[in-house]
Amino acid sequence: MTDHTHDARRQSWVASANHHADFPVQNLPFGVFAPPGEAPRGGVAIGDAILDIPAGLAAGLFDGAVQDAAEAAARPTLNRFLDLGAGPRAALRERLFEILCDEATDAVRALAPRLLHRAADCTLHVPATIGDYTDFYAGIQHATNVGQLTRPDTPLMPNYKYVPIAYHGRASSVRPSGIAVHRPNGQRKPTGETVPDFGPTRSLDYEMELGIWIGPGNALGEPIPIAAAHAHVAGFCLLNDWSARDIQGWEYQPLGPFLGKNFLTSISPWIITTDALRPFRVPQPPRPEGDPAPLHHLWCEFDQTHGALAVDLEVLLTTKVTRARGMQPQRLSLASTRHLYWTFAQMVAHHTSNGCNLAAGDLFGSGTISAPESAGWGSLLELSQGGRTPLHLASGETRRFLEDGDEVIFRARAVRDGFAPIGFGECRGMVVAAL
Ligand code: CA
Repeated sequence: MTDHTHDARRQSWVASANHHADFPVQNLPFGVFAPPGEAPRGGVAIGDAILDIPAGLAAGLFDGAVQDAAEAAARPTLNRFLDLGAGPRAALRERLFEILCDEATDAVRALAPRLLHRAADCTLHVPATIGDYTDFYAGIQHATNVGQLTRPDTPLMPNYKYVPIAYHGRASSVRPSGIAVHRPNGQRKPTGETVPDFGPTRSLDYEMELGIWIGPGNALGEPIPIAAAHAHVAGFCLLNDWSARDIQGWEYQPLGPFLGKNFLTSISPWIITTDALRPFRVPQPPRPEGDPAPLHHLWCEFDQTHGALAVDLEVLLTTKVTRARGMQPQRLSLASTRHLYWTFAQMVAHHTSNGCNLAAGDLFGSGTISAPESAGWGSLLELSQGGRTPLHLASGETRRFLEDGDEVIFRARAVRDGFAPIGFGECRGMVVAAL
């Protein structure tokens, strides 16, 4: 499953990449960036730098089939690259590894001033034009925690262990890390009131999710069988499904989430490819005794033995007070993608099982990922028990939900003995006052 591009002994001649928390030469995620004052184009993160793919093309670094893939990955939106699928993507990764590893020729290294930009100087963009965004609900601990707030005896709905639950989200308001979240206005009806009023949400929350980038799609009417579903996932990112709980709680029945969710979704801007994550594939954890087996169209032996991921996910918070005091961001939770009840292939197979067509550049959210224990719960709704129990911060402040000036930071890291750890880069967003 792994190859020389995963070899932990290999280093990069880009010195900052070696032992970089996110982007060593074994990662090579794709994205869209703009150097200061210049137009957006495709790039690859390497340490504290970004490799400029159009500059690499101009320097003649890619030829043959790899050149076609590099041309697609050089564009200001990566849909065509995602559509190329696993073969061309892996071939381009291999060539980029050759270019950036310590065995690169002196001629390649001499191109550094043309090829590399300081990432800190660049603007990162959403890497593809997202045609459709679907948010799943595959974090079973989150579903249980949230269900318990209103149905303590039967937190999970009867369909949960049969259906990978999802709803269609809003693609137009997906933004890259760093974009502020304006506290949304909406209809709020506190418990005990008989009619709602309109104003800024009083219960703004985050949801820690894994984002899933769809590669090649399918034709309308042609479901993707689960055995083929992995090839339709190109990569992953971090996703913050910002949620206004009071607006959501009033509006969601009977049709589900709407304005309580679609004011903003933040993502980390780099596509961490399925190729880079190969060493971190793990078996799907066995279902607890008594749970039903997945129905036939959601069952694949290979998916059960290789279809899950071991990625640690961290939520951190800073506030006006903690930043003024120079305090480190405070960790609110640590969970793992191992806590998902459904695999990514099951999501793809389920989504298309009725003939619905996916397209390259579609985005899925996994659903909020929470660990079984409270130190791994992925939203404030869970950590504050629906706002009933305030969270005590190291600064002496308390939080039930987010306040203006709070900044939420997601990080992710994949670690396995014998392999170079890789990270996702950050997904962050600052809460600002309502418009
Ligand atoms: Ca969600």
